[in-house]
Amino acid sequence: MGGRKLLDVYKNFVLDCDGVLWHSATAIAGSVEAVSRMRAAGKRVVFVTNNSTKSRQAYLDKFEALKFEGVEVEHINTSGSAAAELCKLGGHKKVFAIGEPGLMEEFKAVGVETVEVSSDAKTGMDEAEFENAKLEEGVSAVVVGWDRNFSFRKLCLASLYIQAGAKLIATGLDPSDKVGGKSMPGNGCNVNAIQYSVDDPQGEHTTVAGKPNSHLMENILNKYNFTGSETLMVGDRLDTDIKFAEGQAKSLLVLSGCTPIEEYESRTDVKPTHVAADLATALDMEI
Ligand code: PLP
Ligand code: CA
Repeated sequence: MGGRKLLDVYKNFVLDCDGVLWHSATAIAGSVEAVSRMRAAGKRVVFVTNNSTKSRQAYLDKFEALKFEGVEVEHINTSGSAAAELCKLGGHKKVFAIGEPGLMEEFKAVGVETVEVSSDAKTGMDEAEFENAKLEEGVSAVVVGWDRNFSFRKLCLASLYIQAGAKLIATGLDPSDKVGGKSMPGNGCNVNAIQYSVDDPQGEHTTVAGKPNSHLMENILNKYNFTGSETLMVGDRLDTDIKFAEGQAKSLLVLSGCTPIEEYESRTDVKPTHVAADLATALDMEI
């Protein structure tokens, strides 16, 4: 009581997208107005999503279609752009990529070549084909972003490239996302299948490019010149968004997405700085 409003306390906001701003194609009630209020109050607002299916440019179109004001492509960070950047910096020149066109666009933008399974290829693979599969030379990483055409063939090829020495890089490990109130399998499911196939069920040899990779948060703070103590990461998932902020920025868990209040209350390993029903309510919350 008698505290300051959350909107007044923080200078910079890093907003997760699905579950905070929208649910798939629909804006969450009050989120468009909340972003406008932040801007009107002189706050700096940037975005980070673990959904790699769209390029940053395509996200800009989505922000505009949903009537979010003042968004520029430079404000948008995706796990796809993070994966492309990470591959570029890691010296990977050619990668076997599983994902949708938005992911491939981000790799093109940084000049890293992608080897893909063509969309008209068979989805299956038998033992003879597996045994005789020809791998492309020079593939040093397997990159896995959400792919709604994931297949056994893609799984087999990813496994073969990893067995031949390629590193596994996942855009994210989100197990699921809420779609129409139900949990739809996320990228973590596909990545887990690949990890199992190479006898690494815990993913000990997997690099996650998107949230909660602490290097990504560090890059975001540096890119925008944000000071961690003045920056609030807002998200709906403890294991991706709230962990992402740990040790580097403050965090707000909103209950408008994936996390039921019971999970927030029972988890002791990861605690947000603040919790609120949704972004709009959070702004006026006294803290
Ligand atoms: N991964 C997939 C496959 C998704 O569909 C979504 C949400 O739509 C996400 C991750 C999470 O996206 P965000 O980080 O914006 O919540
Ligand atoms: Ca989210």
